[in-house]
Amino acid sequence: MNARVGILALQGAIEEHSRLLRALGASVTPVRRPEQLTGLSGLVIPGGESTAIARLAASTGLLPAVRERVDTGLAVLGTCAGLILLADHVLDADALAGFDRVGGLDVTVRRNGYGGQLESFEADADISVDGTPGDRMRAAFIRAPIIEAVGPGVATIVRHNGQPVAVQQGRLVAATFHPEITGENRLHRRFLDLAAQRAADAAA
Ligand code: GLN
Repeated sequence: MNARVGILALQGAIEEHSRLLRALGASVTPVRRPEQLTGLSGLVIPGGESTAIARLAASTGLLPAVRERVDTGLAVLGTCAGLILLADHVLDADALAGFDRVGGLDVTVRRNGYGGQLESFEADADISVDGTPGDRMRAAFIRAPIIEAVGPGVATIVRHNGQPVAVQQGRLVAATFHPEITGENRLHRRFLDLAAQRAADAAA
């Protein structure tokens, strides 16, 4: 659990993730430019506003730089806007047109799938892959995207009302909700395990 990880620190729930990861023993550095990815085994892309993050990242080419590292085994945890930036296919994405995203996660997501801020809610979601059957995860959905389709290589980790709300593909873990604000750390622990694998690969 001592992997060096980064948090994409342009906009969004940066502090909440950093605090949680530090509490789990990780060393966390903010990432705002491509060169700050050097030496990191994992990266959190926080929730916030995907259009704002994509615009702020555009001048330095940060998101394509993240993608290059994803393709060589970087672990990534993307929440909400972070999921949108990781998804290969985004619906209702006019505001993102012309801006680089990261991609690499074979899912289709719909931005603001539940509606706007007034349709934000907290719920207990099911954990269906690891965790004992009937295990629950408290999840906060804030202008959340909906995962409309998952590709064959993507595992659903958490469901809400039968629909996928957190998924994993290789070392990419992504959720439509904000686990960092409900005292939930299981997705972060999973992410740090994947980052530790990446660190072990790099050392081999
Ligand atoms: N609706 C936001 C977007 O499109 C995501 C909301 C969030 O991250 N809480 O980026």
